[in-house]
Amino acid sequence: MDTQFQALLIEKDASGAQHVALRRMTEDALPEGDVTVRVEWSTLNYKDALAITGRGPIVRRFPMVPGIDFAGTVTQSDDPALSPGDRVVLNGWGVGESHWGGLAGRARVRGDWLVPLPAGLSTRQAMAIGTAGYTAMLCVMALEREGVHPESGPIVVSGASGGVGSIALMLLSRLGYTVEAITGRPREGTYLEALGAAAILPRDAFTSVGKPLERARWAGAVDVAGGRVLANLCAGMMPGGVVTACGLAGGMDFPATVAPFILRGVSLIGIDSVQCPRDRRMTAWNRLAELIDPQRLDLMTRQIALAEVPDTARALLDGTTHGRVIVTMAQDG
Ligand code: NDP
Repeated sequence: MDTQFQALLIEKDASGAQHVALRRMTEDALPEGDVTVRVEWSTLNYKDALAITGRGPIVRRFPMVPGIDFAGTVTQSDDPALSPGDRVVLNGWGVGESHWGGLAGRARVRGDWLVPLPAGLSTRQAMAIGTAGYTAMLCVMALEREGVHPESGPIVVSGASGGVGSIALMLLSRLGYTVEAITGRPREGTYLEALGAAAILPRDAFTSVGKPLERARWAGAVDVAGGRVLANLCAGMMPGGVVTACGLAGGMDFPATVAPFILRGVSLIGIDSVQCPRDRRMTAWNRLAELIDPQRLDLMTRQIALAEVPDTARALLDGTTHGRVIVTMAQDG
């Protein structure tokens, strides 16, 4: 008999209104792909929250199983590189947007979208890291590629209590950088210090229109905010500073001037985790397995069941969750 599993499904009715519900499914409902995976853990990312609440145009076709990432075990494979029993992780590639995603007990995808889980990392830890952590790692790798090292000067991280921000803090402090955390939630100060923040900076100080050039104070930045925060971070970079931009939690616009780029040689590096080449993904996951401190990871991780996802998605967008939210599929058969 075909295996049954639970899935979160986003549907649109005839009036165009979006509905989200838990559904019982069998594997024959899954989309085409050469590998089937028993999903053990998925997560709730900012993008998933936009998709599930309908507050952002993430889903490109309906019905859709959301979930831009998952970790689990291969149950069937037509890809010679993968066999049943292999533990794998997936991030991006349009999964949860145009191809059914990870918020289900099973997923069927292309084999070359899957990355073998590095030894020493559990599927639960892989999703506690998730696309947020993997993106944070891509930002850190970009800083390194551009020649930023711990002696270059402090690194600033925006959206520090969110998923990308929390893991960026943890990775950078582990690598020996001095890290300053921008947050809109000063009450999270103790949490951010436990992750490695050397200073906590109020977000309010970065949301007004600033000067083209501010005091040069950072050698690098990991920005999840976009908008004025990103513009002000560029203005506060030291000569040769490097800003990695990966998010738009504060806005899609970029109201900056060219002054930091032409007068201080600042570089702005865009980070796209979705279409990132496979070899860079493998490097990122292997480095995450080396650098992640399991205790700090636990500190920032909250576990929920699939049924709790819609309410938690709203809370995430309202800014009342912190760190990483992981979703267990344990009840699925
Ligand atoms: P979270 O919701 O976990 O974190 C976002 C954080 O941003 C919040 O916790 C908050 O931190 C801060 N924030 C919220 N509202 C604002 C605002 N108006 N202005 C400035 N900061 C704000 O999301 P993730 O960490 O998962 O994702 C962060 C961003 O990165 C999102 O925009 C997401 O789409 C993007 N992203 C991009 C990827 C890529 O491939 N480029 C991959 C993964 C994520 P605090 O309260 O501490 O200020």
